[in-house]
Amino acid sequence: MTIPASDPGELAARRDSALRDYEALRARSLSLDLTRGKPSARQLDLADRMLSLPGGHTAADGTDCRNYGGLQGLPELREIFSGPLQVPAGQLIAAGNSSLALMHDSIVHALLDRVPGAERRWVDEPRIAFLCPVPGYDRHFALCERFGIEMISVPMTADGPDMDVVERLVREDAQIKGIWCIPKYSNPSGVSYSDETVRRLAAMPAAAPDFRIFWDNAYAVHHLTDTPVEIADVLALCAGNGHPDRAFVFGSTSKVTFSGGGVAFFGSSEANVAWMLKNTAKRTIGPDKLNHLRHVEFFGDADGVLAHMRRHAELLRPRFDLVETVLTKELGGTGLASWTTPAGGYFVTLDVLPGCAREIVRRAGEAGIALTPAGATHPYGDDPRDSTIRIAPTYPDLAELELAITGLTVCVRLVATEKLLEQAG
Ligand code: PMP
Repeated sequence: MTIPASDPGELAARRDSALRDYEALRARSLSLDLTRGKPSARQLDLADRMLSLPGGHTAADGTDCRNYGGLQGLPELREIFSGPLQVPAGQLIAAGNSSLALMHDSIVHALLDRVPGAERRWVDEPRIAFLCPVPGYDRHFALCERFGIEMISVPMTADGPDMDVVERLVREDAQIKGIWCIPKYSNPSGVSYSDETVRRLAAMPAAAPDFRIFWDNAYAVHHLTDTPVEIADVLALCAGNGHPDRAFVFGSTSKVTFSGGGVAFFGSSEANVAWMLKNTAKRTIGPDKLNHLRHVEFFGDADGVLAHMRRHAELLRPRFDLVETVLTKELGGTGLASWTTPAGGYFVTLDVLPGCAREIVRRAGEAGIALTPAGATHPYGDDPRDSTIRIAPTYPDLAELELAITGLTVCVRLVATEKLLEQAG
């Protein structure tokens, strides 16, 4: 970001102009919502054919999908998602509708039952900590808070988490049991991990024998360009570097088919999968295999998934382009903000001058534009620089999105110039 003009006269003029725009914005009594990364109704429509599936109830191996059982999920569905999630089908579990639930359960099971390689249950540890690359996903952080897991922030770089920091902390502190990773089109920065980052995560020595990478590949197939990002195979690299049980892989079709009616996946080493299934067997007699079957019928194969995702991209790309266009037009060259241009995923991160994010979100809220709370992208809701704003452009229609982003830029100009005047004065 370039340093904005600091001439007080000029700044005051800019502030006054921003204030006039802000008052005009408020007078419009908008009611717009950019808070959460939800698919739009038009995206959900793309999967409407699923509402009349499955056509039958018999799986490839003759299983009656209406009945109990089949804890690991339909093999033919696991085959389809094996490639996109980079997990051998035999080491993949197809479960219920939410990968977040699987992350929750993984933590609960690790608390109450020794994960492979652990000396004791996590609940018997004096302290448990997770590394949290920031900015990151608020629901990961909420899970840590829920279970009393200490969170240690690690800065993100353009290649993923700062691996010098990660390696040092994980080597030194045996109470660090996990790291949250969103390896592709990360929430919210859009960053995809470089091969070298994945290799270092897989290879690094860890003081904790039961250290786990929570590999939340939520956006594995959510490309916005015609040149999809490919990331390195974390399970293979972990195995190849002598840490076969290190990674828990998560994914889901929440933003592929239906957010409330998709299928979630857990993949890992054979030992971890056996541990997961043993614990899962206590909480369910089997997953919704009819939902698995209708996903199989809907996609056919992995190419069917990619073809479907291209239709999503057709709907999403204009939204992301619009955000880029409006931000460039209104804030480009001002030095008041910088932002990401993601190649996939669901979010844009807007970086504003330090100390401004909270106030910008508050002012936007007062003008009827709801944004994800500032700080949500950081552990404990505390962004120490108070500079990160997450924009979720997928849900509103284009006209609403344009209004919302334009309104947001007014708030950025107003709060930033007020801040600079305060500093100048
Ligand atoms: N992980 C990430 C990184 C996400 O962004 C989201 C949805 N916002 C989820 C998980 C939630 O996934 P699910 O619907 O499968 O629980």
